[in-house]
Amino acid sequence: MRPSASPFLRVQINPDIIANERPKLVFLCSPNNPTGNSLSREIVQKVAESAEYVVLDEAYVEFSGNSMLDMVRDFDNLIVLRSFSKFFALAGMRVGYAVCSTEIAEAIEKVRLPFGISHPAVETAIAALRSIDYYREIRDKIVAEREKLIENLKKIEWLEVYPSDANFVLVKAKKEGVVEKLAEKGFIVRDASVIGLEGLHIRITVGKPEENEMLIEALKEI
Ligand SMILES: *Cc1c(COP(=O)(O)O)cnc(C)c1O
Repeated sequence: MRPSASPFLRVQINPDIIANERPKLVFLCSPNNPTGNSLSREIVQKVAESAEYVVLDEAYVEFSGNSMLDMVRDFDNLIVLRSFSKFFALAGMRVGYAVCSTEIAEAIEKVRLPFGISHPAVETAIAALRSIDYYREIRDKIVAEREKLIENLKKIEWLEVYPSDANFVLVKAKKEGVVEKLAEKGFIVRDASVIGLEGLHIRITVGKPEENEMLIEALKEI
């Protein structure tokens, strides 16, 4: 199913389509990559009521403050996925987990690879959890910077900005070659046009304050 953009450039999914199709399995991602948009609890609830199983990818949820992890209690067909790759910046370690009903956990246990997570990765994840206050401080800075970045991006008239609950911001550019021009200036952004949204879409990861300011200046020069 292809997401559709509203006039406010917020991408939502239509739960009625899922209610009609009654699929066996639905994958949701909230906050979504690359839109940064979160799904509402009502939508996830409706989907969980109509699909046999729902996997909810919450890889970016720590930047949003609205996890739906608690809904696992109400829906035994809901599987919430979490990752250490983003909030804890441990992408190479390959650590993550699922939260779901005992029944599903037992089923996963039957097919899961043995030693799926290496010992150094487990130790690193535990150390990261012990330093959670440090990561929360960084997250708070990233979220504050994200809001500032969104405000500054909105001031560039040839950009349309999506709201974001993640550590990146999606923009629609009404100019060509922006990704290449930014690369010439030393900024690597992600061309996110491939996901089916119309026009040039660019995903910008929130950087340090001075990096974000330099990016805004670079965009203004284009
Ligand atoms: C990064 C990311 C993940 C997490 O991937 P890992 O395999 O845990 O590194 C999951 N879903 C989305 C949408 C992501 O962007």
